[in-house]
Amino acid sequence: MSSREKGARCITRGVTITCDIQSGATSFTVQPTTYKAKAYSAASEESPLASTTIARRDPTERDVQIEILFCGICHSDLHSVRNEWSEFMATNYPIVPGHEIVGRVTTVGSAVTKYKAGDLVAVGCMVDSDRSCPNCKRDLEQFCPNMTLTFNSLDKHLGGVTYGGYSESIVVDEHFVLRLPSNLNIAGVAPLLCAGITTYSPMRHWGVGKGKKVGVVGLGGLGHMAVKFGRAFGAHVAVFTTSPNKKEDAFRLGADEVVVTRNSDEMKKHAGSFDFIIDTVSANHDINAYINLLGVDGNLTLVGAPAEPLDVPAFSLIMGRRRLAGSAIGGIAETQEMLDFCGKHNVTADVEVIPIQKVNEAYERLLKSDVKYRFSIDMASLKSE
Ligand SMILES: [Zn+2]
Ligand SMILES: [Zn+2]
Repeated sequence: MSSREKGARCITRGVTITCDIQSGATSFTVQPTTYKAKAYSAASEESPLASTTIARRDPTERDVQIEILFCGICHSDLHSVRNEWSEFMATNYPIVPGHEIVGRVTTVGSAVTKYKAGDLVAVGCMVDSDRSCPNCKRDLEQFCPNMTLTFNSLDKHLGGVTYGGYSESIVVDEHFVLRLPSNLNIAGVAPLLCAGITTYSPMRHWGVGKGKKVGVVGLGGLGHMAVKFGRAFGAHVAVFTTSPNKKEDAFRLGADEVVVTRNSDEMKKHAGSFDFIIDTVSANHDINAYINLLGVDGNLTLVGAPAEPLDVPAFSLIMGRRRLAGSAIGGIAETQEMLDFCGKHNVTADVEVIPIQKVNEAYERLLKSDVKYRFSIDMASLKSE
């Protein structure tokens, strides 16, 4: 600091430091400097996503600056853009969604040790947490009360809200940056950062593996990943579906059997036989039908969130010591473990790659489940905006 006069400013490593002398004491306020990045944002809940420019902070000491190559489209992008979760997570506009991010490191801060320019990296649903609460200490940052989501969360650096991956670049603390295996198609890796970890985490937690019978309810973005992971873990995988025409695809993805749920005889055949069922459906449905398929100590984990409360008779759980559980994404260490596992077992999402200019159309198709099984935006398309 060359001057300590009131209001003196100096710019160092992307940080503006303002010094004030007040009643004899010196105080410092730190304001990061910023740069402009191209992005797609929605201005209100009725607006389509459109080209814009946003401010990103210049990388500070522990930051990694990433050129975004692909960003998956998650259903929560659409919910947030349209403010459909206003009761518990109101959307701040403009919103830049996207939390299935893969890219290449362009710059790192002076204290960054894990990454260097040129590395292939990923960012998922979180970009920060307090690192000090009991959940963070157990590598469960996803349950940190002070966790910062990748978009629509309070931005601790700049004020305002965080902006997600529908952008040409992002700046993230290195603790929340993940390393990509080098052997995978990166367009198909992007959805692993939300759909992948959301299904991997509970399957690992509840011991899915060889000799276990695993059920997957719903064959969409999440469900198709659950089938792939179940298979890779060596379990026997059954897919439950309402539409018989999904059978062929379920087998292609790795299912050992497909149960058409409308056929009550088929459902009865499986009563009391499953070790673990993952329910990915967010529309209202009868989960009791699936609880009854669990064996002793069987577990039904919800990763989809129906709007209406669920109707669960206690006896369905009492008889058989069954568990009804929930799960949300995974911690940073576990997400890295998942990416490494995917590299080893050659697991990626099935994606349809689109340019950013087709994102509004993709949202409409998402509502009709008209995608196999995830859209991945090629962010090179943003350069022409
Ligand atoms: Zn997501
Ligand atoms: Zn914490």
